[in-house]
Amino acid sequence: MGTARFTDLPPDHHVDIVIVGAGVSGMYCARQIVTARPGTTVAVVERLDRTGGRLDTDLIRTDDDTTIREEEGGMRFNYGMTELMQLVDDLGLCG
Ligand SMILES: Cc1cc2nc3c(=O)[nH]c(=O)nc-3n(C[C@H](O)[C@H](O)[C@H](O)COP(=O)(O)OP(=O)(O)OC[C@H]3O[C@@H](n4cnc5c(N)ncnc54)[C@H](O)[C@@H]3O)c2cc1C
Repeated sequence: MGTARFTDLPPDHHVDIVIVGAGVSGMYCARQIVTARPGTTVAVVERLDRTGGRLDTDLIRTDDDTTIREEEGGMRFNYGMTELMQLVDDLGLCG
């Protein structure tokens, strides 16, 4: 996996699938595609300079110099969200 500015790619650059938007949906689709069909080339194009879309974590510095992470987007999830919980497990995000 790599990143590149769209304008830096050669005009004849080829990928099999282009996904527009690097929010959780786009990134999850890309992961599912390359997992299901290894060797498929996928480009995720994003207009912002970061991934995540509406998932956006702020770092807040407190008066005592502690840094706190505050989520501006997805804050609540539950075990009924089975695909999300599977992804959290697959990525080893639970301690
Ligand atoms: C305040 C807030 C609280 C939330 N709380 C929760 C919660 O507690 N639990 C929960 O499950 N969900 C929550 N959500 C919803 C959750 O964040 C969204 O459903 C989810 O992040 C949407 O992901 P997405 O990939 O579908 O879309 P987005 O995150 O909107 O991603 C779309 C991406 O596509 C890009 N894009 C759009 N058009 C173009 C274009 N033409 N070219 C290139 N790039 C483009 C955008 O820049 C963006 O990065 C919350 C959302 C908000 C805003």
